Amino acid sequence: MHIVLWDTRRLDASKDFAGGFGVGYYPGRGGLRGRIIRRYYTRDHRPVALLYAHLAAVFGRLGHRVEYAEDRIPGGADLYVFVPSLITLELERRTIAELKSRHPNARVLVVGLLASVMPEAFDSLDVTVVKGEAEQLLWKLDEVLSYGGQVVQLGTIEDLNLLPPPDWSPFRPRRFRIGYDFWRFPTTLIQTSRGCTFKCSYCPYTILENSARFRDPEAVLDEIRHDVRHWGFRSFKFRDPLFGLNRKVVFQLAELIGRLPRKIQFSIETRIDLMRPEVLRMLKRVGLTSITVGIETPDEETLKRYRRAPIRIDRQWEFIDTCRSLGIRTVAGFMIGFPDDTEQSIRRVLDYAKMINPTFANFNIVTPYPGTEFFREIKEQIADFDFSRYTVYTPVLKYRHLSAGQVEELHTKCFRQFYFRWKYLGENAPLLWPWLQTFSRRACPAR
Ligand code: SF4
Repeated sequence: MHIVLWDTRRLDASKDFAGGFGVGYYPGRGGLRGRIIRRYYTRDHRPVALLYAHLAAVFGRLGHRVEYAEDRIPGGADLYVFVPSLITLELERRTIAELKSRHPNARVLVVGLLASVMPEAFDSLDVTVVKGEAEQLLWKLDEVLSYGGQVVQLGTIEDLNLLPPPDWSPFRPRRFRIGYDFWRFPTTLIQTSRGCTFKCSYCPYTILENSARFRDPEAVLDEIRHDVRHWGFRSFKFRDPLFGLNRKVVFQLAELIGRLPRKIQFSIETRIDLMRPEVLRMLKRVGLTSITVGIETPDEETLKRYRRAPIRIDRQWEFIDTCRSLGIRTVAGFMIGFPDDTEQSIRRVLDYAKMINPTFANFNIVTPYPGTEFFREIKEQIADFDFSRYTVYTPVLKYRHLSAGQVEELHTKCFRQFYFRWKYLGENAPLLWPWLQTFSRRACPAR
């Protein structure tokens, strides 16, 4: 079969994030300073979502021809596969309708997290919606296609080691770069685990399951080797929702990565309490360049209300400091715009961010993702159900003490005031421009 994987980068969608719901780019509000911050992020060409590369591998293994189509509808294919994000949902619905009007007999599968959570969004489109992890089409494609026009539940894959490694060949992967994590490119995405055992009520990563599955570290290393040899990837963004949940896997993986003939760069996303200083040192030695952590807010009560296990403030501060001294970038996520937020509570988040001073601070506006406990809890307080605005940079709730405009204005201030400070530059310059480290070592070899 000729299979088309349809995709879009319109509306700034980065589909791999938020568990597959996707996020946007910072819109660059607030004049020149806002535009400079936006420019920094948009010069990246982020890899396509990992699911596309898994599907390419699955269909390739079944002997089908795979074509990747970004914002166009190639004619004559036997099957069209859509992986919609929340932001692009309307666009994808319109595209499917157009496809169906041009090619009435075209078969369409809709897969991914959004398909799992909101299958009814595709009700009138005569498509087959696949709930659960679509990579299982490796074993079930014929069966799923025989259910034309229905919703099919596949659940999750028990053993991740059974999946073929992602195939990046249809996506022109040499363009991929993520500059906030790395300075060597191209960049790719990879996973050692799926799922998370924590219970943060707003988190989309636990919708399909609230447990974790792990890959064999040897298989992860084989994938890295193959990726380096085949596509020349020099940096690897681990897309585990929570890297480090299994300590043994971390140690084995670090040892294996350390044996690679050529050093790679990699980044992880984790919780601060899973990364002891000795683990950070070990990972740094084998190529760790950047860690994404969710700090969310310094207000413990808010964290507890949304079932986020708090981490002591001194521990957070120490963590950022240790990473800085080891030369590891930190990308810290903060949340503003909870229904009870006030101007003061948002300012406290900004002040806290300035105090711990990570390499990058991402101020996300609280976004209720369908399928989460948080969405169910606060449904009555959602002001806007236009999902194209669920970018994490747009207020969509009703706030008790603030208007949406005030939340947006405070959000703009957070970005502007965090980045344009001497202390920010002073402490983070060697991490932002790593050649400075080489320069200072040359100038002062004793360091
Ligand atoms: S720890 Fe992270 S991945 Fe796990 S539930 Fe909380 S936000 Fe989600």
